[in-house]
Amino acid sequence: MTDCLFCKIVAKEIPAEVVLETDRALAFRDINPQAPTHVLVIPKEHHADAAALAAADDGLADDVLKAAHAVAVQEGVAGTGYRVVFNTGPGAGQTVFHVHAHVLGGRDLTWPPG
Ligand code: IMP
Repeated sequence: MTDCLFCKIVAKEIPAEVVLETDRALAFRDINPQAPTHVLVIPKEHHADAAALAAADDGLADDVLKAAHAVAVQEGVAGTGYRVVFNTGPGAGQTVFHVHAHVLGGRDLTWPPG
């Protein structure tokens, strides 16, 4: 999609600190980190949100989830605990409408989230 920030990161038109890349997923550091580890994991293919990703029905959601766990292992937070969050829709705080999993870890995470 031409007017999508994260599609531009996939196309390398906008720089990002990439930490992991697979055939169908890309993981890069959040520009405004909320925890010592805060990585965004996206499918390279454009889908607006988690509902659209789930509806893609071709294993893409599975690839994104596996990439999120691989990031947690790589970042050294898999053993201590980490959180994977898909903000879905404006009411849940989604601001970029290219689906992304936030992978957060490296500090104690409270519940419920705000
Ligand atoms: P959302 O609010 O769940 O949609 O999350 C969007 C996230 O994208 C926020 O945590 C932002 O800090 C992050 N973000 C926005 N622009 C960039 C960027 O250019 N590079 C990396 N992260 C970004």
